[in-house]
Amino acid sequence: MFNAEEGAIQKVRAKNTIVEMDGDEMTRVIWAMVKSELIEPFAELKLERYDLHVKERDRTDDAVTVQAAEAIRRRGVGVKCATITPDTARVDEYKLKKAWPSPNGTIRAMLDGTVFRKPLLVRNVPPTIRSWVKPIVIGRHAYGDIYKSAEMRIPGPGRVDLVYTPAGGGAPQSLVVHDFKGPGIVRGVHNLESSIRSFARTCIHYALEERLDLWFSAKDTIAKIYHGTFREIFRQETEARRADFQKAGIQYIYMLIDDAVAHVVRHPGGFLWACMNYDGDVMSDMVASGFGSLGLMSSVLVSPDGCYEFEAAHGTVTRHFRKHERGEPTSTNSTATIFAWTGAIAKRGELDGTLELTQFARSLEAAVMETIEYGTMTKDLTSIADPAPPAYVTTQGFIEAVAARLRSKLAAGRRMPAVAPR
Ligand code: NAP
Ligand code: MG
Repeated sequence: MFNAEEGAIQKVRAKNTIVEMDGDEMTRVIWAMVKSELIEPFAELKLERYDLHVKERDRTDDAVTVQAAEAIRRRGVGVKCATITPDTARVDEYKLKKAWPSPNGTIRAMLDGTVFRKPLLVRNVPPTIRSWVKPIVIGRHAYGDIYKSAEMRIPGPGRVDLVYTPAGGGAPQSLVVHDFKGPGIVRGVHNLESSIRSFARTCIHYALEERLDLWFSAKDTIAKIYHGTFREIFRQETEARRADFQKAGIQYIYMLIDDAVAHVVRHPGGFLWACMNYDGDVMSDMVASGFGSLGLMSSVLVSPDGCYEFEAAHGTVTRHFRKHERGEPTSTNSTATIFAWTGAIAKRGELDGTLELTQFARSLEAAVMETIEYGTMTKDLTSIADPAPPAYVTTQGFIEAVAARLRSKLAAGRRMPAVAPR
């Protein structure tokens, strides 16, 4: 792995701090490999580290997650490893005090952020959907709707009302939801004007920065007030930035959600699709599988005041970790985890004006893409690659191949642009 030219590689230095959040299982294993083989030999970062291992969250009564989120607010840039969201089986497995909430949920709520998921396109891993040639980025509103709802089972005949009682007194308002003649179900959902507005603004900021058309879709023909409010806020916010849209050469397009779904599968891609919470949940999985593999899906949480948290979109890859624990070789794709690191490093460089840091991140991204494009890939990609390579490499083997390519790239002093459009 080491060649004679190694001495010629000078480490790039970061000016300011990145918040590092370690995690669980297979991704924790990958995390350590990526740091020691792909980052530490080449870059001197300033890291403020929080260990979000499920046992550490348990030991600190989850205070460590809150501290990590506060640190991202303070530092502006973070990178997070995948973490276990404990259910009852995990509470038993790790002997936890309780089923702590999802760290991503906690961090998202504290940053009031929007999650953007973007597939990484590799030339020899063609999307299942033939028309897609550019990434489709999903911006998912991460507050409210069915994820923060009140549900009730209706046992038999009776009326359900929707009642609003003004906090300062005044006459309550009410509406009949349904007059039940027999058993049924009911649910109350809500959203906040402030949250919708910051969602719209964050999507506009992302679209302008990446020069992508912005789509927003809802069903305002049916939910005239609920979805209509989303549509109206997007209209106001995009209207306010009309000159910037023109300057960037991008458009804002509103579509009904069903129309958008029909369009998306026939579209070449290259746009940001702002989705309401549930649509974003569903569509991001559709888009991930349409583009190929979860191992190639990157994710960034952006707050309205410009804080960034980068991560892979996948989980801790438990099935592979069980093999790893048994001492068996694994073939887990580290691409999305590497891109979480390069996203954070490049953003740090951009914010600090340290170009060489950003350039290092781009070189590492190019090394990953070229490694796959020259046929060295993990098992998840071999079945969907065209042409299919004769064999797949191990988790470690892939990272070593990337390291070798990165070393020769840096030693040659070539500054290759990233293959993946960003
Ligand atoms: P997962 O970890 O994403 O893995 C699901 C399956 O997808 C894997 O078993 C594997 O399929 C494939 N896969 C995912 N990432 C891959 C990669 N990098 N390389 C190769 N194959 C990959 O989802 P999960 O098994 O449902 O969840 C496991 C744990 O992760 C849970 O405890 C959950 O709470 C947590 N989770 C965390 C996050 C987060 O922190 N952002 C997100 C989701 C889930 P094969 O086994 O068929 O190879
Ligand atoms: Mg989902």
